[in-house]
Amino acid sequence: MTSVLIVVFDGLQPSQVTPELMPHLSALAAEGVAFGNHHPVFPTVTRTNAASMVTGRAPGGHGLAANTLVVPDFQPHRAISAMEPELAQVAAKTGRTLLSPTLADILSTHGREYVAIGVGTSGNAYVHNPDAERSGGATIHPDFTLPRSLNGEIIERFGAWPPEGRPNTARMAHAVRILTEYILPERDPAVALIWSSEPDKSQHAKGVGSELANAALSAADEQLGVILRWLAGAGREADTDVMVVSDHGYSTISEIVELDAIVRAAGFPGGDTPGGVIVAANGGSAMLYVRDKDAATADRLAAFLMRQPWCGALLASEAVAPIPGTLPLSLAGGEGPRAPELAMSFRWDSQPNGARYPGHAPSTGGAPGLGQHGSMSRHELRNILFARGPSFRQALTVEAPSGNTDLAPTILRILGLRSGHPMDGRVLEEALAGGSASEPRQVAETHEAERPLEDGRVFRQAVTVSRVGNTTYVDQGNALAG
Ligand SMILES: [Zn+2]
Repeated sequence: MTSVLIVVFDGLQPSQVTPELMPHLSALAAEGVAFGNHHPVFPTVTRTNAASMVTGRAPGGHGLAANTLVVPDFQPHRAISAMEPELAQVAAKTGRTLLSPTLADILSTHGREYVAIGVGTSGNAYVHNPDAERSGGATIHPDFTLPRSLNGEIIERFGAWPPEGRPNTARMAHAVRILTEYILPERDPAVALIWSSEPDKSQHAKGVGSELANAALSAADEQLGVILRWLAGAGREADTDVMVVSDHGYSTISEIVELDAIVRAAGFPGGDTPGGVIVAANGGSAMLYVRDKDAATADRLAAFLMRQPWCGALLASEAVAPIPGTLPLSLAGGEGPRAPELAMSFRWDSQPNGARYPGHAPSTGGAPGLGQHGSMSRHELRNILFARGPSFRQALTVEAPSGNTDLAPTILRILGLRSGHPMDGRVLEEALAGGSASEPRQVAETHEAERPLEDGRVFRQAVTVSRVGNTTYVDQGNALAG
């Protein structure tokens, strides 16, 4: 029976997959299918994209709007960081961490398993299978496991996790050991996933293309080599589809914007006050929650943001629409029961950094020159997907748009299982052996909005999306010269 192994390189951009930096991934890419136009969801942050990978849903559908977010049915007037144990507390109070079933939930109804291991944040690991205690499968992370009872067994057998490092190679190597000695040979799940926190960690710490980031890339690629050699040696290449993906692309920070302080100074009180605003900072973007969904406050806040030189794309939810100059949050798949009232991407450009990687944007944290993501920059809205194995065609580059929401439906198709639940992603038929060899029809759309400002200027913005069937991919969004 075919099984699927997903390998995630956090924050890896297509231009970094070269034979010099990543020889193992480059070889895999040449043998299998390379998706040349792959997309994360907006906001281009890790945990939101992890949730989209395992649910096949855009953020509005799975409800994890961002890494830092308000969960209105949990704590309506306060932003939380999507980490473990906060996410477990969300589940305890509201009954669910995510609003849509995950691959693990769906597989469990077919008697199959999803097992994830990751060395990124606890929140990233947690969203892979929040219901593991109830519906099966497992998640393994240095800080915790699900089910909780598994932790002692893993520590006893494999020893304590090495400390976190830069690059985070020792932890990743430990995870690869658990993958190749326990998860794949013993649990043999229908779907296994391993998440490398590199190159993300090193790009945040030292910048995209820095010596540290390049060393991290090479070390992470070497771990992929260990996994691929294990598959070959164990005779598992013929029945294992390997999908290698990243969660988002990257930019270099141009300036720091202290958004929360700026919004307060502009006269908007915090979320504990009527008429207040909660700023959930997410690096290259921010989710803004207006207390009681007050439309007048949302309009005033939007007008204030549009006057700022760092304001890029600005989307508004149905709850506060219409707000002149904004575009609908639904354009980016953000509409849903836990949606923010406003979502703002910083205004980005394509200027190269010192290591010649294009893309700069302001950020709510970090420091100028370091790496960041979260925005609607096209340099962050392009990530990688490569697939090699018995279910995929060979030596093919797909030019049709694809995205992180397509992973779950495509994996279920490979396994011959029905989801039984709506998904925003599509089956990547054009990549499958025996599938339709022709690329699907795609439509590109640019949506624009503008608003005259009090000072006589005009705020203008444009968001470009590609559509294949019912699936929408955000290509880019930014303010235009006004
Ligand atoms: Zn990430």
